[in-house]
Amino acid sequence: MSLSESVVHGSKATVKELPSIDKLLRLPSVQAHLSVHGHTLVAGQARALVDDLRAQALAGVLAASAVTPDALGGALAQRIAARIAPRMRRVINLTGTVIHTNLGRSVLPDVAIRRLTAMMAGPNNLEYNLDTGSRGDRDSIVEGLLCEITGAEAATVVNNNAAAVLLSLAALSGGREAIISRGELVEIGGAFRMPDVMDSAGARMVEVGTTNRTHLADYERAITERTAMLIKVHTSNYMVQGFTSAVSEAELAPLARARGVALVSDLGSGSLIDMGKYGLPQEPTPQQMLADGCDVVMFSGDKLLGGPQAGLIVGTREHIGRIRKFPMKRALRLSKLPLAALEATLQLYLQPELLVRELPTLRWLTRTQEQVAVAANAILEPLRAALAPRYTVTLEPMLSQIGSGSLPIDRLPSCGLAIAPVLSGKRGMGTALDALSDAMRSLPAPIIGRIADDRVLLDCRCVDDPNEVINQLAGLRLAIIGEAP
Ligand SMILES: *Cc1c(COP(=O)(O)O)cnc(C)c1O
Repeated sequence: MSLSESVVHGSKATVKELPSIDKLLRLPSVQAHLSVHGHTLVAGQARALVDDLRAQALAGVLAASAVTPDALGGALAQRIAARIAPRMRRVINLTGTVIHTNLGRSVLPDVAIRRLTAMMAGPNNLEYNLDTGSRGDRDSIVEGLLCEITGAEAATVVNNNAAAVLLSLAALSGGREAIISRGELVEIGGAFRMPDVMDSAGARMVEVGTTNRTHLADYERAITERTAMLIKVHTSNYMVQGFTSAVSEAELAPLARARGVALVSDLGSGSLIDMGKYGLPQEPTPQQMLADGCDVVMFSGDKLLGGPQAGLIVGTREHIGRIRKFPMKRALRLSKLPLAALEATLQLYLQPELLVRELPTLRWLTRTQEQVAVAANAILEPLRAALAPRYTVTLEPMLSQIGSGSLPIDRLPSCGLAIAPVLSGKRGMGTALDALSDAMRSLPAPIIGRIADDRVLLDCRCVDDPNEVINQLAGLRLAIIGEAP
């Protein structure tokens, strides 16, 4: 190749110029990786790198500059870093949905994180009774707390609320009938559909009433000697409005008792506190459901409760005993990680004055619009500077959602930043919005917002420290404008 050709096309490397794996591993920079990560990962990535380069060389597209020792060392370092970088990443939730199912739902309180870390660092008494020195029961770690908080006689815990519903149905129906209102045949998402869950649990579903109206007499007529239970399902992600009626747990309890069938309630979110006290829309509590006469109540650990993923089942000694003894329980039991976090979270409920401060879910839900505006204001100017001149940024009132099928129609007055592309018309609008969303997702701490009305909206409700967002803005400018701020 003549000198002028190599200047025009850049000089290319051939297969012959590729290093052997051995030679690559002897480079000083690679030796350093070997001492940190060991032979398996480093040699594996070295082979994969050389394979890639060989394919490029054969295609005639490998730049000579890519096979210098420095370039090879750099490329290998990048591959190693990418291989061991977490796929599960911390993100910044500016979606305006507080309990966001796709973003991991509730964030654990610090006490729970500390407890979890401490308990996982060594052996613990998960199933060992320290009083007697004999085998213990993992449920006993939180049973007392759950009983004290909800007023239940007994409690047990499983992997999530879906498991709690499945297990309770299976254990208490024994293949017999479970009666449910047609207005409560809920789909939660993620393939959790009440009729399918009942089927999986071996319970025969008997539907009563209509989509909008179900009466006590409907339940009454449907009860036979084949009936095992009445099940109520909290319609947590939708609302039927208009000409409606439903039968409450309190109304069903005397009927269930008189006819000798169980009354079971799937609360879904199940806040342990009166949300009304915090100015939030009211959700039924497990304590109220038990007081109303339910035999068993199930709810999630990581929705409004604000703890780890878990399914909590509270109820009478007899019913919980049957659920606990059912063989499926062993397959659905809670692991020691969430159990440690759950115990610490429940202990916060013994100190209710601390909840708003310590429980992130409640802290974010109870933030006033004015408080959210303080965070939004702190981010406004730095964000403007980062996105000028391609985008404009304005501070605006917004409406947050609680999320995770909790209180589905209520919105919380909030505040955030609205970002609009600077365009001379609508052309290129979609591209400009997507480019910004993509750039925000590619940041070291990805920022997740939402797109509405031709703007990217960043609701600042869940921002505890504006600097977490501001620290990402240099990277955002580079990704969008192609220059450092
Ligand atoms: C969320 C929900 C479930 C499922 O709970 P997970 O903790 O997500 O398994 C079941 N029933 C209702 C009514 C729910 O809202």
